[in-house]
Amino acid sequence: MKVETYKKTVKDLEPAPNLENYEETYRTFDWKFVRKELDWFDGKINAAYNAVDRHLQTWRKNKIALYWEGEDGSESKFTFEELSLLSNKVGNVLKEVGVERGDRVFIFLPRIPELYFSFLGILKIGAIAGTLFSAFQEKALEDRLVNSETKVLITNKELKERVDKVRRHLPHLAHILVVDSEEFGKSLEKASDELSVAHMDPDEYAFMLYTSGTTGKPKGVVHTHRAILQQYMTAKWVLDLKDDDTYWCTADPGWVTGIAYEILGSWSVGVSAFVYAGRFDPPKWYQLLEKYKITVWYTAPTAIRMLMAQDGELLKKFDLRNLRYLCSVGEPLNPEAIKWSIKTLGMPFHDNWWQTETGGICIANYRCMDIKIGSMGKPIPGVVAAIVDDDGKEVGINKEGNIALRPKWPSMMKTIWRRPQKYQSYFIRGLARHERGAKRRVEWYITGDRGWKDTDGYFWFIGRADDVIKTSGERVGPFEVESALVEHPAVVEAGVIGKPDPMRGEIVKAFVVLEKGYQEKTKREKDQLIGELQEYVKKHLAGHAYPREIEFIDKLPKTRSGKIMRRILKAKEMGLPIGDTSTLEEY
Ligand code: ATP
Ligand code: MG
Repeated sequence: MKVETYKKTVKDLEPAPNLENYEETYRTFDWKFVRKELDWFDGKINAAYNAVDRHLQTWRKNKIALYWEGEDGSESKFTFEELSLLSNKVGNVLKEVGVERGDRVFIFLPRIPELYFSFLGILKIGAIAGTLFSAFQEKALEDRLVNSETKVLITNKELKERVDKVRRHLPHLAHILVVDSEEFGKSLEKASDELSVAHMDPDEYAFMLYTSGTTGKPKGVVHTHRAILQQYMTAKWVLDLKDDDTYWCTADPGWVTGIAYEILGSWSVGVSAFVYAGRFDPPKWYQLLEKYKITVWYTAPTAIRMLMAQDGELLKKFDLRNLRYLCSVGEPLNPEAIKWSIKTLGMPFHDNWWQTETGGICIANYRCMDIKIGSMGKPIPGVVAAIVDDDGKEVGINKEGNIALRPKWPSMMKTIWRRPQKYQSYFIRGLARHERGAKRRVEWYITGDRGWKDTDGYFWFIGRADDVIKTSGERVGPFEVESALVEHPAVVEAGVIGKPDPMRGEIVKAFVVLEKGYQEKTKREKDQLIGELQEYVKKHLAGHAYPREIEFIDKLPKTRSGKIMRRILKAKEMGLPIGDTSTLEEY
């Protein structure tokens, strides 16, 4: 496929990016530079203190940290000082009910302000915070609360009913704090707003998250206080957050992005953040971008594709001139989406790659760097990324393999909760490429994603290892087929799988969601369209990669964080059990 490059113009580089020269910084970088920019207590640290409290010693004390809007239009805002005092209160309430360092305190709330200051309060007393998507039903809650042996749960009246149904299976759950109850209101009011923040060893646990489970049973990924180093650095250099920005990250803190870049990293650089508690809704989202004068926007490909599917007139009704920088994460970003944003918003989305396990952005496109459209960019300074084979040997330029990282980076997970062997299974010993002639034995963290690296050092995503299709001896990445399909005017989204085939091993099968105007077409017209889409992929991608089967569907199965769940498409196709669906969006 032809690679198109978006060259940065003088206008793109105004105001000057926080990271001005990627290559040079990568070469000379040392984490100790970042360590110096954070606040320490004699070798100890607290991530929540660094996110919020440290700003109280500066002019940011009365700066707005959080602009909040509810689905019903209600609004509120909090300064850094207010967030600090409220989180102190929560810390004291938790201590009152017996929470100690290392205890698990989980939050089961929609994106309301209480979620944010509770999260900070938990970290401040040295307990381990966990977040649960408010859409979780009983089974999903039970799995996570049992596995983590959660001691205290913070929730609201409505959601508590679900917990009550499984309460008898939760012997470790000593207290449930209900944020909209009179009792909680009173204890918060009574609690002191002074708290001595726990001084944590950088390796002590701060929060844990059950991954979205795109590929299997959710696992409890545990992160330390040290992670704030990387979250801070990437908020500054990848998201390019500045003091006069108003920043909107659309992720839910039930997902790692909502923790690292809506609480810890973003506030640690002192930015004013906006949070919307409501659902995805194109006109509403545009209206919020306008109303809050959002300057930096961090969202996901699924949302961008849905915006692209709207009538072009919609966008024209809003004044989005304040936007200056766009980033995307969570799934491969289709080239078409970048071209769309350049055309309609006047600037490209910057894709970045990371995982729950990596705790922070690891590979990214930077403001100061040209974008090869469709690439994930280059590893952040301080992180070594490579493409290795299954034995951990680095493969050559432009060759497909496992995307791997060299341990350790500051926000690397510390363990998988109560599953040390699962944790170990991420790592293999292998060989680094000849560095000045010498082969070196090194350890690699295997990400589970496949990709390749080009001559300029840009990384390209192929697919999750489990999703890569083997057809007639060729390997096909679902992402490139999906991207080719999305480029066709009839297609909103596509999910591509390998369907077992006696002749070819697997054939490429595509599930396609059509644009409105195409949904009403007759059977004959649709059959014709199938032929046209097949030709389109053959022409734009490759003859062997075209989908031999195409099925039109209304909606793709996705996780709550918006990722296409190809394993569900595949299980359904093959009539197999679909496995854990706790993170599946209502379908
Ligand atoms: P599980 O590991 O439980 O199956 P998950 O992998 O979906 O869940 P996350 O940790 O939230 O849970 O997702 C990380 C994965 O998302 C990456 O490994 C990758 O497959 C995908 N991903 C994230 N960002 C990008 C990106 N910019 N481009 C391509 N893929 C991405
Ligand atoms: Mg994963």
